[in-house]
Amino acid sequence: MSEPAASPFDTDVLIAGGGLAGATLALALSRRLPHRRVTVVEAYPLATDATPDAYQPSYDARSTALAWGSRLIYDDLDLWPQLAGRAMPIRHIHVSDRGRFGATRLAAEEHGQDALGYVVDNRLMGLALMQALAERPQVHWRAPARVMDVTPRPSGVSATLDTNGNSATMTAQCVVVADGGRSGLRERLGFRADTRDYGQHALIANVSTRQPHAGTAYERFTDAGPMALLPRGRPGAAACDSALVWTLNDHDLEQVLAGSDADRLALLQARFGWRQGRFTRIGECSHYPLKLTTVPEAVRPGMVLVGNAAHTLHPVAGQGFNLALRGLMGLVEQFEKADTAGTPLGHLGVLQAYQDEHRRDWQETVRFSDSLIQVFGARSRTLAAARDAGLVGLDLVPGARRWFARRAMGLGRFTRGIGDER
Ligand SMILES: Cc1cc2nc3c(=O)[nH]c(=O)nc-3n(C[C@H](O)[C@H](O)[C@H](O)COP(=O)(O)OP(=O)(O)OC[C@H]3O[C@@H](n4cnc5c(N)ncnc54)[C@H](O)[C@@H]3O)c2cc1C
Repeated sequence: MSEPAASPFDTDVLIAGGGLAGATLALALSRRLPHRRVTVVEAYPLATDATPDAYQPSYDARSTALAWGSRLIYDDLDLWPQLAGRAMPIRHIHVSDRGRFGATRLAAEEHGQDALGYVVDNRLMGLALMQALAERPQVHWRAPARVMDVTPRPSGVSATLDTNGNSATMTAQCVVVADGGRSGLRERLGFRADTRDYGQHALIANVSTRQPHAGTAYERFTDAGPMALLPRGRPGAAACDSALVWTLNDHDLEQVLAGSDADRLALLQARFGWRQGRFTRIGECSHYPLKLTTVPEAVRPGMVLVGNAAHTLHPVAGQGFNLALRGLMGLVEQFEKADTAGTPLGHLGVLQAYQDEHRRDWQETVRFSDSLIQVFGARSRTLAAARDAGLVGLDLVPGARRWFARRAMGLGRFTRGIGDER
């Protein structure tokens, strides 16, 4: 049932943060519940074609490995056509342990798919999202502006906004907190977050290799930490560009940052090895501290945390945003049910149903990516032998490989029709 014309609220859903999660949620809501009003508050000026230099942190120089399941979600939101021409298909994933014999290989064709996933530049995803949202009249932006606080009120919430030092309030049925991994709102609102510091940083750079990558993504575990090399470029082209995610401790990060490009390439070659031939170029490097953060109770009346504000994972397994996306679709599904039943969107029962549904997915995904880091990060010889056995086992046992592949492909209940349920 739709909200009556004289709604006591300024907007139906207020999204705090217009990054990958917040903007995708706005798009999904505008398509599934087109009669509902959505307001997105974003701290930075919006990056659009007209403002190519505008900086929004979610849409920086990183690339994201979108799992096959995420592609299906973006297909459903009609965003995939804007991404497809620049999304490099991952045809193979090669997981290996540097210096040891264990390795496993996944191939899309074994699973009857064109690709196990796709690599898309975050900046391109940002532009596609902004363009799609510009055509949705029910979505309003407040940017640059910050949500500073949220207080409950009958059947909804009231949010305090800061726009260039000017304070204003806005009421909504529900506030969705999508302000990222260092979520200031989560802290201000007193949500408990469990955080474990990995004591490492992810160094990100675009690199080139002499050998074309042929659509192969590498996850490589080394004594000094895991690294991933994701194939970039336009589909169909013989591309030699990849996105590097390189985990480093404080000391090694300093060393890499202090060196010249030639020094960095030499260190990278020594760490990664020669599977992809010689590294010939390394672009601008940026780095992020690595933490595992989860929020056991991410809902309250009128408030729900999503995306990195709800769970921040180690990036090497490429699961963080894919998990977020599945959660967003679960939330939209609960909003649709509430809408049909005439229940306020921020009703605790609605948000609790979302949380109960999403909990199993985030717990399993956290366990999967965290166990990769724990087991493969370990230096002990017994564990090293065990992980060789694990990788070889994965390679030899079809059931185990299928399980691993399903996680890598991000399959679940929002991607029915392309495989069995988890
Ligand atoms: C190095 C690296 C590589 C990764 N690779 C992958 C990958 O390959 N695959 C994958 O699935 N995931 C990957 N991830 C995870 C993925 O990047 C995140 O899951 C995703 O960016 C989360 O988006 P978000 O919108 O929740 O948060 P963010 O991207 O942090 O966006 C938050 C937004 O909120 C805004 N904001 C902050 N505070 C406020 C406020 N008070 N009011 C209003 N707006 C506010 C910010 O300006 C920002 O735009 C990677 C992460 C890292 C760090």
